[in-house]
This record gives sequence, structure tokens and C-alpha cells, in this order.
Amino acid sequence: MIKGRQIYEGKAKKVFETDDPELLIVSYKDDATAFNGKKRGTITGKGVINNRMSNLLMEYLQDKGIPAHYVQELNERETLVRKVSIIPLEVIIRNVSAGSFSMRYGVEEGIPFDTPIIEFSYKNDALNDPLINDHHILALKLATAEELNTIKDLAFRINDELCALWKECGVTLVDFKLEFGRCSDGTVILADEISPDTCRLWDSSTAEKLDKDRFRRDLGGVEEAYREIMARLTKKLAEVNK
Ligand code: ADP
Ligand code: UDP
Repeated sequence: MIKGRQIYEGKAKKVFETDDPELLIVSYKDDATAFNGKKRGTITGKGVINNRMSNLLMEYLQDKGIPAHYVQELNERETLVRKVSIIPLEVIIRNVSAGSFSMRYGVEEGIPFDTPIIEFSYKNDALNDPLINDHHILALKLATAEELNTIKDLAFRINDELCALWKECGVTLVDFKLEFGRCSDGTVILADEISPDTCRLWDSSTAEKLDKDRFRRDLGGVEEAYREIMARLTKKLAEVNK
């Protein structure tokens, strides 16, 4: 596999072409941003953890029949993925109230929902990723009705699988963000990353935050939280795969 030119640099990752038009290399950085780039910093070792964790979780999901872009981990920061055309939606699943949900609706954080909530934001930094609904998505032609059904079905299945896995790690999956993309044959698959940058992960007994909220909210112990959550997942998966 030959690493080609960089085609994109985002807030958390760089993306490179390869000699195969169907494959890309993503490279995870330690850069951290919050509030649409207004807060910036570095979380030492984050790129290594997010690369590994996202790959472990995507492999786990693929084993459960969820189609995902993960192909092969190349080194501690770089992974080979299937190239997709990203559907410009941030697909958010919530199991417990937190973050923008709590702010928007005036609900305290930490209230579990009877059934999970799905929410969509239009992935557009210039517009501040506005919240949109199914009708907006169809009107703006961001996805077809069939693609939207597939996305919802996959997102809830992913939630079921990940909630169960994190529970085994003593962690509550509060909420998370997914991105989906179209392969060259039109199939919709899970893309981007699943990591403490894109999930809220709380210790099940103490509700201690083990995710990027430690950075967003200046809670301290950011690197330690990333290492702790990674250690718990690695330990559990080693048991599962024994
Ligand atoms: P952002 O663009 O929000 O700053 P990142 O720094 O994580 O985010 O950049 C990674 C970019 O790569 C994102 O725009 C994401 O949508 C895109 N991406 C993720 N997976 C794939 C894939 N398999 N094929 C094409 N693009 C992808
Ligand atoms: N999220 C993300 N990228 C975004 C916005 C949200 O990964 O651009 C994740 C975030 O980490 C959390 C979930 O999506 O796990 C819900 O985030 P929320 O809408 O509460 O927004 P926030 O409070 O992060 O602004």
C-alpha cells in the first residue's frame, strides 16, 4: 500500500490517498478542538488512543454485521479505510441527557431516556452544524429516504451493541456521534471514528466523565481519562476474544 498525497486536514485527522482509488489512509492527530473550533488544545497521546479505539470498536461492530469503513490498522496513528462519499450529517444517538440536549431543552444532565433518541445535524462548520430533521434532510437532498432509513437502522443497532459492550466495561454510553458514507457501489456504511472525542462515556458507578468533556469543560485529567477508558476497553475485549 503506497501512501499518496494528503487530500484533507481536519480538526482531528489528516486524510491521504493511496494507490488504490477505493482506499484512504486516515492519520489521527493529538489536536483537540471544541465549540466548532473556538477552543483549541492538544491532548498528548489522543491520536494513538482514538486510532486504536475506533479500530477496535469498528472491528467489533463489523463482527456483529454492521458495515463499516475499517480495513486495517497500519501503525499507531494510521489506518486504512474504505473511501466513501461522506453524507454530510452528524448522526447523534442519546441514551442519557447531556450536552446540547440539556442546554436546548432545559433538562439537567444525567437523566436516562426510556428509549434512545436520534438527532441529526447538518455537517457544515460555516453554519455551525445546525440541527435538522428528516424533512430537511430530504428537502436539502443530503440523503435519500432509503439511505435515511438505513442510517437510522444502523445507528440504533450500533447503539445496542456499544451500550452492551461499554456496560461490560463499567461505562455508560451517554451519547455519541456517527458519520456514514456511500461506497462507490452506493451502499451506506459507517465511517469516520468512534472514540472518546465523539462519545460521552461515564463511569457507571461514579458518573465520572471519561471523554472529551474533560477537555471541553476544563475538568483536568484529560490524558488520564483517555488512558483509563482505553485500558477498560482493551481488557474487556481481550476477555471477549479469549
Ligand atoms: P473534521 O472534518 O470535522 O475536522 P476530522 O479531523 O476527523 O474532522 O477529519 C476527517 C475527515 O474525513 C472528516 O471530514 C470525515 O467526514 C472524513 N472521513 C472519515 N472517514 C472517511 C472515509 N472512509 N472516506 C472519506 N472521508 C472520510
Ligand atoms: N459530537 C461530536 N462532534 C460534534 C458534535 C457532537 O463528536 O461536532 C458528539 C459529542 O462528543 C457527544 C454527542 O456527539 O458525545 C452529542 O453532542 P452534543 O450535541 O451534546 O454537543 P456538544 O455538547 O458536544 O456541543
